[in-house]
Amino acid sequence: MTFVNVAIHQVTHTCPANPQPHVVDTRRVIVAYVPGGPCRQPIRVRLNNSTVMVACGRRLPAARQCPACRITVIERDIITTHLGYEGPQRSASEAAAR
Ligand SMILES: [Zn+2]
Ligand SMILES: [Zn+2]
Repeated sequence: MTFVNVAIHQVTHTCPANPQPHVVDTRRVIVAYVPGGPCRQPIRVRLNNSTVMVACGRRLPAARQCPACRITVIERDIITTHLGYEGPQRSASEAAAR
Protein backbone atom coordinates (compact mmCIF):
# COMPACT_ATOMS: atom_id res chain seq x y z
CA MET A 1 0.00 0.00 0.00
CA THR A 2 1.36 3.35 -1.00
CA PHE A 3 0.55 6.06 1.49
CA VAL A 4 0.39 9.73 0.76
CA ASN A 5 0.07 11.97 3.77
CA VAL A 6 -1.38 15.33 2.98
CA ALA A 7 -1.92 18.34 5.15
CA ILE A 8 -4.69 20.78 4.53
CA HIS A 9 -3.26 24.26 4.26
CA GLN A 10 -5.80 26.93 5.01
CA VAL A 11 -5.09 30.58 4.38
CA THR A 12 -7.18 32.97 6.42
CA HIS A 13 -7.40 36.73 6.66
CA THR A 14 -9.59 39.52 7.81
CA CYS A 15 -10.81 42.18 5.41
CA PRO A 16 -13.28 45.06 5.27
CA ALA A 17 -16.06 42.69 4.20
CA ASN A 18 -15.58 40.40 7.19
CA PRO A 19 -13.64 41.41 10.31
CA GLN A 20 -13.66 37.80 11.55
CA PRO A 21 -10.77 35.65 10.29
CA HIS A 22 -12.08 33.55 7.42
CA VAL A 23 -10.66 31.09 4.93
CA VAL A 24 -9.69 32.56 1.56
CA ASP A 25 -7.70 29.64 0.16
CA THR A 26 -7.41 25.91 0.85
CA ARG A 27 -4.66 23.76 -0.55
CA ARG A 28 -3.43 20.25 -0.07
CA VAL A 29 0.25 19.85 0.66
CA ILE A 30 1.95 16.47 0.41
CA VAL A 31 3.97 16.04 3.61
CA ALA A 32 5.01 12.41 3.26
CA TYR A 33 5.06 9.76 0.57
CA VAL A 34 5.52 6.14 1.59
CA PRO A 35 5.94 3.79 -1.39
CA GLY A 36 4.20 0.44 -1.10
CA GLY A 37 7.13 -1.53 -2.53
CA PRO A 38 7.37 -3.54 -5.72
CA CYS A 39 4.26 -4.26 -7.72
CA ARG A 40 2.63 -7.60 -6.86
CA GLN A 41 1.01 -8.16 -10.22
CA PRO A 42 3.13 -6.56 -12.93
CA ILE A 43 1.61 -6.37 -16.37
CA ARG A 44 3.31 -7.66 -19.48
CA VAL A 45 3.53 -5.04 -22.16
CA ARG A 46 4.74 -5.75 -25.67
CA LEU A 47 7.45 -3.41 -26.81
CA ASN A 48 8.71 -4.08 -30.34
CA ASN A 49 9.89 -7.70 -30.22
CA SER A 50 10.26 -8.03 -26.49
CA THR A 51 7.97 -7.81 -23.51
CA VAL A 52 8.54 -5.67 -20.48
CA MET A 53 6.88 -5.77 -17.09
CA VAL A 54 5.36 -2.58 -15.82
CA ALA A 55 3.81 -1.91 -12.43
CA CYS A 56 0.04 -2.29 -12.59
CA GLY A 57 -0.30 1.11 -10.93
CA ARG A 58 0.94 2.67 -14.14
CA ARG A 59 -1.61 0.92 -16.34
CA LEU A 60 -4.75 0.03 -14.43
CA PRO A 61 -7.46 2.13 -12.83
CA ALA A 62 -7.11 2.43 -9.05
CA ALA A 63 -9.78 -0.19 -8.32
CA ARG A 64 -7.84 -2.92 -10.14
CA GLN A 65 -4.36 -2.11 -8.88
CA CYS A 66 -2.52 -4.47 -6.56
CA PRO A 67 -2.17 -3.59 -2.85
CA ALA A 68 1.39 -2.35 -3.33
CA CYS A 69 0.47 0.12 -6.06
CA ARG A 70 -2.81 1.36 -4.67
CA ILE A 71 -2.54 4.82 -3.18
CA THR A 72 -4.16 5.68 0.11
CA VAL A 73 -4.45 9.35 0.89
CA ILE A 74 -4.34 10.26 4.56
CA GLU A 75 -5.29 13.73 5.59
CA ARG A 76 -3.21 14.46 8.61
CA ASP A 77 -3.41 17.91 10.00
CA ILE A 78 -4.58 21.34 9.16
CA ILE A 79 -2.02 24.08 8.78
CA THR A 80 -3.43 27.55 9.04
CA THR A 81 -1.64 30.63 7.82
CA HIS A 82 -3.25 33.84 8.90
CA LEU A 83 -2.41 36.74 6.61
CA GLY A 84 -3.82 39.32 8.95
CA TYR A 85 -5.84 42.26 7.76
CA GLU A 86 -6.01 42.69 4.00
CA GLY A 87 -7.56 45.89 2.83
CA PRO A 88 -8.12 47.07 -0.74
CA GLN A 89 -4.61 48.60 -0.97
CA ARG A 90 -2.79 45.35 -0.28
CA SER A 91 -5.08 43.38 -2.56
CA ALA A 92 -4.33 45.77 -5.39
CA SER A 93 -0.58 45.44 -4.98
CA GLU A 94 -0.88 41.66 -4.79
CA ALA A 95 -2.88 41.59 -8.00
CA ALA A 96 -0.22 43.68 -9.72
CA ALA A 97 2.51 41.31 -8.59
CA ARG A 98 0.82 38.31 -10.21
ZN1 LIG B 1 -11.92 38.41 3.14
ZN1 LIG C 1 0.89 -3.23 -8.82
